[in-house]
Amino acid sequence: MSQIVALSPKLEKFLQGTKKLFINGEFVPSASEKTFITYNPATGQPLATLYEADAEDVDRAVRAARFAFDHGPWSKLAAAERSRLIYKLADLIEANYEEFAQLESLDNGKPIKEARAADLPLSIEHFRYFAGWATKIVGQTIPVQGNYLNYTRHEPIGVVGQIIPWNFSLLMCAWKLGAALATGCTVVLKPAEQTPLSALYLAELIQQAGFPDGVVNIVSGYGETAGQAIVNHPQIDKVAFTGSTEVGKQIMRQAADSLKRITLELGGKSPNIILPDADMSRAIPGALAGIMFNQGQVCSAGSRLFVQKKVYDNVVSDLVSYARKIKQGPGLDLETDIGPLVSVEQQQRVLGYIEKGKQQGAEILAGGNNPYRQGYFVSPTIFASVNEEMTIAKEEIFGPVVAAMPFEDLDDLIERANKSEYGLAAGLWTENLKNAHYVANRLKAGTVWVNCYNMFDAASPFGGFKQSGIGREMGSYALNNYTEVKSVWVNLN
Ligand code: NAD
Repeated sequence: MSQIVALSPKLEKFLQGTKKLFINGEFVPSASEKTFITYNPATGQPLATLYEADAEDVDRAVRAARFAFDHGPWSKLAAAERSRLIYKLADLIEANYEEFAQLESLDNGKPIKEARAADLPLSIEHFRYFAGWATKIVGQTIPVQGNYLNYTRHEPIGVVGQIIPWNFSLLMCAWKLGAALATGCTVVLKPAEQTPLSALYLAELIQQAGFPDGVVNIVSGYGETAGQAIVNHPQIDKVAFTGSTEVGKQIMRQAADSLKRITLELGGKSPNIILPDADMSRAIPGALAGIMFNQGQVCSAGSRLFVQKKVYDNVVSDLVSYARKIKQGPGLDLETDIGPLVSVEQQQRVLGYIEKGKQQGAEILAGGNNPYRQGYFVSPTIFASVNEEMTIAKEEIFGPVVAAMPFEDLDDLIERANKSEYGLAAGLWTENLKNAHYVANRLKAGTVWVNCYNMFDAASPFGGFKQSGIGREMGSYALNNYTEVKSVWVNLN
């Protein structure tokens, strides 16, 4: 029985008309007046029309952000005032909880119950956590030799360009804006072209909260045009990017010309490991959720499942029966556990990987197709008999596809789990404390989850080893992304 959520009238109104860009505190059309469309992934039908930003609009946004930072009220505002505004924004998001949950589900395809349970609370908490930091960013007084006073100031970097992906559009706005605003930077943010709507809904709340003009600017558009204009703009001091490793490398090369600061949150191929002494009633559903959450479109998705040889057959067979019980459907259906992928391109990409897996000899035990005639669905897919040389074991699929592989002992496991160009996250299921710490300490990953997976908290850092990125978001670590340290010497002689 499907239970489709009725759209909020406020949201229906928001979806009407051509959505404008948010520049210098105003909603404006793009200079070219060009538009683009965002689609509902559950039906493939158009959802909204938006003005498309290109270099001219980005330049306008950067000039507004520059003025707000260099001359405007933002740089002169007391930290407590910045904190108050960020808290107010969090309260406004909370007041629009259901509208955001529905919007995330409509634009991205994700199940509304996940948006309500994860995207919204995490986003709100994120803004509150960084609102608290605004008044606590302090330097040091350093006992240098001689009669000098030496102290450090942690100053905001300046104008920040932020480019985000489509998998958690509101939460990625929160991860990017929270730390930047707390430290006193101004921002030009480009949402992904597939899911630009929640950033624009957020812009309305930014305006309502009373942020000074130009502090946050939202430019919806494509990566090759608006994204590139941000990366190359000489008045932008820093680029914070979340997206694919390929684009991340390109941004790093381009930033080198002017030594623009960068932080990169990139892709992953995370191992999820089940030891023979794991509590299987938690480990098996936990491993499945670790890959299927958000249709597998999670940078930290546990896409390589390593299971100790003795328990491998039983684990894989239970995994398959759990996978067959997953209810797939439109995101707005309360019964839905797994929705469609974000776009037809993503669906075709994932189906292409599944085909490659079959061709290279992996055994498909569940899923592997689109069960519907419409929408961008891919059913939960489990591959067994996978070896590490296969493409599905090496490349990031970014879909509901897991590659199960047996291992012999801990040292064999650690070597193979670390044999990846990525190092974003890892999971480990065991009841043995000694093994848990032994493995956790040796995995080359920015996050290790023991007997849990995909846990996030605004206070805990997240980011990648190796080609999964540079820098950490969240927690106090994220403040370093947006501040420069200045050492001041005062001669007391
Ligand atoms: P993508 O790199 O194609 O796009 C991400 C963003 O970059 C979009 O806004 C896009 O418009 C923009 N972009 C694309 N090309 C650009 C260019 N040449 N110059 C400037 N901007 C450009 O990635 P995607 O397919 O949208 O997202 C999926 C990827 O993001 C996956 O690899 C995933 O692992 C990664 N991701 C990482 C994290 C993390 O925290 N590490 C979180 C979410 C997603």
